[in-house]
Amino acid sequence: MITGTDWFDRFFNGEIFPEGEKYHKIGPWVSGGIDSALCLFILAMYISKLKLYNFTIQPIHGYNTGDRVLKPSYQNANEIIDYIRNLYPDVVIKDSFTFAYKLEKGDMKIKYHIPNALYAREVGLIDQYVGAYTLNPPKDQMIAHDIYDDRDKRRDDLKYSNTFLTRPFAALDKKWIRDQYIKYNLEDMLPLTASCISNNQTQGPCKTCWWCKEKYWAFERY
Ligand SMILES: [Zn+2]
Repeated sequence: MITGTDWFDRFFNGEIFPEGEKYHKIGPWVSGGIDSALCLFILAMYISKLKLYNFTIQPIHGYNTGDRVLKPSYQNANEIIDYIRNLYPDVVIKDSFTFAYKLEKGDMKIKYHIPNALYAREVGLIDQYVGAYTLNPPKDQMIAHDIYDDRDKRRDDLKYSNTFLTRPFAALDKKWIRDQYIKYNLEDMLPLTASCISNNQTQGPCKTCWWCKEKYWAFERY
């Protein structure tokens, strides 16, 4: 399995997609969360350092209109995009392709996100989607931190694949993400990110939802 920065090395070398010319419009999912912010940063860093200016970035964002009533996630996503544009002004990072939907009871967000990624390809906005889904924490640590939750077990099964819907972080958990924030001095970007999806946020993150607890497990902050 090729994961983490190995994936980015191989993608920009043209090893993953031999007919690489087709894959220059990169469409990373930028959710407003901490994982996808890192993914966008790494993409921009590679393009800038390797001067691969034939690659452009088209962030994609979708949000459930019922989520995050205090500050919608697209605001976080846009602040992250602006932050990375300032770090790498030589890289073309387009305005986010943002769509809204209303999550029906029992639906998974992926039901809305994947069709919209496919639509973005269909209309020529992107050639290659990059999702920043990470692995769950180890099961024993999830149990110890009271975050072993059936709701998100599916993340254990996600694997990297050489497909349009690729996920380079699928075999890496949030402590790996934390290590990259330290490695690349991204502390200033941390406050721009939000992971909480609770509707019960009166003053910032709820500190009780799965995403809040996972972020705390890795970063010791919400
Ligand atoms: Zn929360």
